[in-house]
Amino acid sequence: MSVSTESTTHLQALECSACGLQHSAFKLQKVSTCCAMPLVATYDLHQPIPKSSINQIDGSMWRYQALLPLLDEANKVTLGEGFTLMLNLSSLANRYGLRSLVLKDEGQNPTGSFKARGLSMAISKALELGVSGCIIPTAGNAGVAMAAYCAKAGLKAVVAMPRHTPNAFKEECYWYGAEVQLIDGLINDCAAWVREKNANGELLDVSTLKEPYRLEGKKTMGYEIAEQLNWQLPDVILYPAGGGTGLIGIWKALREMQAIGWLPLGVKLPRMIAVQAENCCPLLETYLGRQANSHSYNGKPTIANGLAVPRPLGEQLMLRVLQESGGTVVSISDEEMIEGMRELSRHEGLFVAPEGGAIWMAARRLLQEGSISPNEQILLLNTGSGQKYMDNVAGRFNN
Ligand SMILES: *Cc1c(COP(=O)(O)O)cnc(C)c1O
Ligand SMILES: [Zn+2]
Repeated sequence: MSVSTESTTHLQALECSACGLQHSAFKLQKVSTCCAMPLVATYDLHQPIPKSSINQIDGSMWRYQALLPLLDEANKVTLGEGFTLMLNLSSLANRYGLRSLVLKDEGQNPTGSFKARGLSMAISKALELGVSGCIIPTAGNAGVAMAAYCAKAGLKAVVAMPRHTPNAFKEECYWYGAEVQLIDGLINDCAAWVREKNANGELLDVSTLKEPYRLEGKKTMGYEIAEQLNWQLPDVILYPAGGGTGLIGIWKALREMQAIGWLPLGVKLPRMIAVQAENCCPLLETYLGRQANSHSYNGKPTIANGLAVPRPLGEQLMLRVLQESGGTVVSISDEEMIEGMRELSRHEGLFVAPEGGAIWMAARRLLQEGSISPNEQILLLNTGSGQKYMDNVAGRFNN
């Protein structure tokens, strides 16, 4: 086996996302002790980190090791996640008169969604920090991914998911040996059960943004987008936002790459578009000023299970990304998601998750409204495969 020469991480600290206070990155941390808000990993970006630090023979997200938080390679828990393909949607581009429409297909990840990235990283760090088991409230995909990586790592896994989640998600968790608790309600109700079940803190709660490392796994999408487009960035990225780790993570990666000089000087960063479900769009409501924040927002179930996150802890971080990037937030109905899935499957051979259908429909709407120009390069970040959602979409391939 060949060994990379530059394998040391530049990990420096964990910063409170609310007040900026620095915390140690070299012991087990959850949310910040100062504000009980998400901790964000920082790296020493003053020393040169050349592009040659990318491990070119590693066809996974781990190729960016210098900018990832793992200290010892021996703790890496991997199933080959990341470095997913960037597909050219030439057929839909032709139909809609678009210059360039690309789709990064996260459905090709282990366990069928981009949750694999975050959980590979979080479980690797859990192993590194001596944790014996993990627990998670999930809308589906995160629970499946956690169960798989815990199985690989030999850690105990407890998953709480809504009872209405499609069966394939539950079944796969059982196969990985996880303990599964079904809850009447949405992910916030699952989170309440998790808090009670884990009151003694025996297991590590790997809820979205309640530990710092899922974000570091998800940010690798940003590195890949730049590398796969030869360090030229798209004009706009559409992302289906639930808890928001991908949105926040991609933006973090773009900022890090700017700081270390991996992007052309004076590069224009893409506008980040958060896409939500009409049935559960807390970010949109706050963005439009209809509520101060989502702390008491109530959502309804949607066929895009991953978007049913009524009270995201990272709301302020997401709003910051939209503001800094000049982006916006759009909500899409379940009916429209089905139409988006139909177009992507019929014309591009892609059976995407309803979340993926949603971002294509959001692109169509923004094109129609004129806030995206057909001359721009549009990147759809399809977060998952449609295969586990069959209970939600079976038979809906035509009207
Ligand atoms: C979890 C999930 C999302 C939302 O991701 P966040 O990082 O929570 O914003 C979107 N799509 C799919 C398929 C998911 O599983
Ligand atoms: Zn703080």
